Amino acid sequence: VVESSSSLHASTTEKLSCQMVELFEACQQQPSDLERKEVCRARLQQDIQQIFPSARLYLTGSSMNGLGSRCSDADICLVIKGNKKTDALRVLGRLLKLFKTLSYVERNQLIRAKVPILRFREKGSDLEFDLNVNNTVGIRNTFLLRSYAYADLRVRPVILVVKKWARYNNINDASKGTLSSYTLALMVLHYLQTLSEPVLPSLQRDYPESFNPLMNLDMVPEGPKHIPPYISRNQSSLGELLLGFLKYYATDFSWDKQVISVREARAFPKNNSKEWNNKFICVEEPFERNNVARAVHEKLKFDAIKAKFAESCRLLHERKELNSILPFRAII
Ligand code: ATP
Ligand code: MG
Repeated sequence: VVESSSSLHASTTEKLSCQMVELFEACQQQPSDLERKEVCRARLQQDIQQIFPSARLYLTGSSMNGLGSRCSDADICLVIKGNKKTDALRVLGRLLKLFKTLSYVERNQLIRAKVPILRFREKGSDLEFDLNVNNTVGIRNTFLLRSYAYADLRVRPVILVVKKWARYNNINDASKGTLSSYTLALMVLHYLQTLSEPVLPSLQRDYPESFNPLMNLDMVPEGPKHIPPYISRNQSSLGELLLGFLKYYATDFSWDKQVISVREARAFPKNNSKEWNNKFICVEEPFERNNVARAVHEKLKFDAIKAKFAESCRLLHERKELNSILPFRAII
């Protein structure tokens, strides 16, 4: 009896898939982790309202999007009226002073990035917070990513393993010119959307009302609640998807010609547009449509990223065990 090629392949990646599940289950954010972040968010909101009465704090990023690990930081968006991006530094300056008086906050630090943030820790713990002002697109894209994360059971383990892989290989730090976790997540979603038998659709195309960019912020978490799970004909195992992801970016994707668009579930050509031309990596923000990978602006870093994809792709094909690319039991 001749086994079909797909089941043959599946059996050779079975061990790899089990190891991915093991890493995912050991590392994924636990309900108690989220509760701790939520308690701190509520307490901070109360204290901030003493100086900014209209202030609202929203947890964003991997704490809320389903892609968090136990050690992920808590990203927070402070929404206050006045809305001008130029006010952000002034607001953060006042918060810096306030936070010095709060007993449960330590190690305040103002980071003057394109989106300025106040970074701090909960006193006596290793829980780190990154707070921005009025960067509300982060609230919208958090709930878009969350909808993708739960649209198919394979999405969360694959992205978590890719984030761990990238971090271990020093290519997961936008402040050092490599890829942010957000960029990596969009890169995985794009791969899953563009398989010949897709694992994911474009949710913005299929459910435009749930992801309307003008939706009232308080409705954003509710927007996607009624989206049914995506029924995919793709039967690939976690291991096959990880191998396929590395191969896609190691050999198939044209970095110099293509823009990754999760919004459109395709790669579109750069077409001499100012946003995309002469950029090493182009990944479209699904709402603002700018480049989320703009931190990668040095040729050396870009080459290091591509080299990691190529090397890990080769190693994992040679020996289909997670250890070939990531000493995963050591990082659990
Ligand atoms: P980690 O688990 O490593 O903390 P994360 O999912 O929180 O990962 P980050 O890259 O730290 O990912 O980004 C946090 C959040 O900030 C994202 O979920 C997104 O909402 C927002 N964000 C980050 N970069 C951008 C960007 N370039 N444009 C718009 N929003 C962004
Ligand atoms: Mg984060």
